Amino acid sequence: MTGRITSLTTYDVRFPTSRGRHGSDAMNPEPDYSAAYVVIGTDSGVDGHGLAFTIGRGNDVQVAAIQALEPYVAGYSLEETVADMGGLSRRMVHDSQLRWLGPEKGVMHMAIAAVINAAWDLKAKLEGKPLWQVLAGMSAEELVDLVDFRYLSDALSRDEALTILRTAQHSRAQREQQLLTSGYPAYATSPGWLGYGDARLARLARQAVADGFGLIKLKVGANLEDDRRRLRVAREAVGPAIRVAVDANQRWDVGDAIEWIRALAPYDLWWVEEPTSPDDVLGHASIRRAVTPIKIATGEHVHNRVMFKQLLQAQAIDVLQLDAARGWCSTWPCSTWLPCRDPRRTAPSSTLTTCMSTSWIPWSSAAGATWPPGPPVSAPKCGQPRYAGIPIPRVRRGPGRGDLMSAGESDGPTALTVGGGPTIGLATARPPAGCRARATLNSKARL
Ligand SMILES: [Mg+2]
Repeated sequence: MTGRITSLTTYDVRFPTSRGRHGSDAMNPEPDYSAAYVVIGTDSGVDGHGLAFTIGRGNDVQVAAIQALEPYVAGYSLEETVADMGGLSRRMVHDSQLRWLGPEKGVMHMAIAAVINAAWDLKAKLEGKPLWQVLAGMSAEELVDLVDFRYLSDALSRDEALTILRTAQHSRAQREQQLLTSGYPAYATSPGWLGYGDARLARLARQAVADGFGLIKLKVGANLEDDRRRLRVAREAVGPAIRVAVDANQRWDVGDAIEWIRALAPYDLWWVEEPTSPDDVLGHASIRRAVTPIKIATGEHVHNRVMFKQLLQAQAIDVLQLDAARGWCSTWPCSTWLPCRDPRRTAPSSTLTTCMSTSWIPWSSAAGATWPPGPPVSAPKCGQPRYAGIPIPRVRRGPGRGDLMSAGESDGPTALTVGGGPTIGLATARPPAGCRARATLNSKARL
């Protein structure tokens, strides 16, 4: 392989999901699910695709931020870039002038993550494997080389990270096989959008159970009486054996969160997601202490590894949620995931659940579906998706223990999550059929 990266092309893709209130929650009542889509072009005939997820207005800003990264990618050796994914990350993240816009947070960080994910897609295609298997095949040293230990070394050294990974290596093949045969635990978000009426909530909740999900998630936080009623409807629909989590999407102050969660406790909440500002590490810790044993989840809007380090050190969360389409990429989860496995540093680690949420991985194409246009694809109904003939782990229905991922939409456009720790990785695949044409059409569209 002696090719070069020749281009970085962006597309503004938007869907009018607000019309059906798909994706609505207490803080985002009318989202238009959108993607700042990026394609890394090469002279080798293979290209890499990535995206940053936004909810409509601002997608043009996100696209511009990604486009600004072209000089950091175009013209570089293809071979050297995909051989040193940690280096690619450092080249962009630690560029002084870009760093000024963060550091390591916000629009620019989301843009960098989108480009890095596109580079991972490129690497996987060049190796002729789905990405999860590229990551699963990397040695402990290669995985640790991805980690930026700056600001982490007080919690985890490179040697400690190597020990954690080497210790887990003996069971890697077994876990890989388990993924292929049993799939990957997931939960359903589709019943619980705040803009859905009670009848639809009940129907989708029953459907999720019929599809085999053991956990559903409802949006809460706008009105306490509405939340009580909706939880009652959901509980009646799914019965006592199904776990019900709720997501406040940052709606509450710390005191309000504690009061509200206690008021909803009779409905047997499994976790409460984003109860307050994602930046409020100590606030999350206070809420967690006050409402235990109800679990506290966050991460979708957590900027970087430093904040996750503090959330773990402060024992502030039970469920750690990375979003690979909102500021995280395949290179960075190791820096968050590894400290979780070190019980000396992070007391909740024995019970900590990691949960990957991406919202927009073009899984439907991996499953052989068309996207867009085409009918929505519900993950559990998909056959075994493959890339280059190699299976991609299926979403597993049924109550999951350990790592989870969210399987997004069922009534709106397909939005689905695939992910995991270093042994699994994101499963990306070829771009959805027709995506380029649709994206071009939408590049000038404004909703
Ligand atoms: Mg959420």
